[in-house]
Amino acid sequence: PTGHAELIIIGTGMAGIGLARALRRQGDKRSIILVSADSGEDYSKPLLSTGFAKRLSPNQLARHSATALADELDAHVLTHTSVEHVTTDTHTVQLSDGQTLAYDTLVLAIGAESRVPFDIPESVARYCFTINDLDDYRLLHHALSERPTRIAVIGAGLVGCEFANDLHAGGHQVTLIAPEATPLPKLLPEPLGFALSDAFQEAGIKLALHRTIKELAPNNDSTVRLTLSNDDIVNADVILLATGLTPRTALAKAAGLAVSPQGIQVDRYLRTSHPHIYALGDVACIEGINAMYVQPLQASAKALSATLTGSPTQVSFGAWPIIVKTPLLPVVAYPPSAILEHWRIEGEGGDMTALAEDKDGNLVGFALTGGCVRRKVELSRAAPALLG
Ligand code: FAD
Repeated sequence: PTGHAELIIIGTGMAGIGLARALRRQGDKRSIILVSADSGEDYSKPLLSTGFAKRLSPNQLARHSATALADELDAHVLTHTSVEHVTTDTHTVQLSDGQTLAYDTLVLAIGAESRVPFDIPESVARYCFTINDLDDYRLLHHALSERPTRIAVIGAGLVGCEFANDLHAGGHQVTLIAPEATPLPKLLPEPLGFALSDAFQEAGIKLALHRTIKELAPNNDSTVRLTLSNDDIVNADVILLATGLTPRTALAKAAGLAVSPQGIQVDRYLRTSHPHIYALGDVACIEGINAMYVQPLQASAKALSATLTGSPTQVSFGAWPIIVKTPLLPVVAYPPSAILEHWRIEGEGGDMTALAEDKDGNLVGFALTGGCVRRKVELSRAAPALLG
């Protein structure tokens, strides 16, 4: 590429690629450079946590290579290249390969990174994995390709639960370890969480809930020993850390843009505190909301594409529930963003409905399991928008 592009997009996740596609679909012809710290392949991140059951190789998950993407988008795609610094005064970005590129408009679509809230001793680092992109999937896939494996999944949020289910379906022995009493603590009230626990246990997934990690140490036989807070021991061949994601705000912060722990702060036009720099996807926090799932980033890509092509468009999000890919017990949740007064819970066994209500009895969110997930459309219509 030349040292200048009218638009530089940092990040080739669904947000960065989605924006470039939306622009080209509108007939926009400006020069675009996409810069990616990873392999720059176009893949669907949600499919990562369905790949082990379906025995999908990493290459089957990659829809397009970076080269094919560059052709499709008529753009330059720089792979395995990080933006190390943004200088707003000169409208330039410094790359890890030493190049400097100038932009007219800059878009930060740099996502979120895996967070591990405790130290991993060097002696067990080679057993520990996180999965937040296709390159990570490649590494874990390789580690598991030889034989059925004992896997300790740490963290029972969406990513931990989906991988626990998927790795189990892929023939591995899974132990799910988390400090909370029930899985999906941010999405499900406890009775529904217990329904998911039951479904996991009945299928043969071992649960070690209400437990933290006291010690990680290597065994002599190329396995790792996890000592839990109650002194129980779990031996595993592999540890998958699903302990949360943090928006990558450091680059923006160093450039002097407004950030918060929830992400780079943007307005409804996805504009950061600097007029020529925008942000969208997992890294962006729009008026206090960073939803970190696909529908909001798709709506953001559409709105930003319109804004950049001369029709300033504010983004809005509907009441879009999160569909958790746990086939052992289907889960759909729209966690309350307004003040929750109480959960009204109905149903039995695995088929449960939980309605989150405010003090006036208005529906502010919901959670559904099993057969009750079919109520998602009806309840989404009744619930308040995520960003109205
Ligand atoms: P990312 O995909 O993280 O992309 C960030 C990009 O920025 C990457 O290309 C990275 O290399 C690049 N980058 C970062 N820093 C730099 C730098 N300094 N220089 C250059 N490049 C940089 N959502 C749903 O709606 N439904 C689901 O079923 C669902 N399932 C999921 C399952 C899993 C396992 C995970 C992890 C997430 C899931 N999500 C799901 C969430 C959804 O996938 C994410 O919200 C979405 O993919 C985020 O896209 P993004 O483009 O914002 O970020």
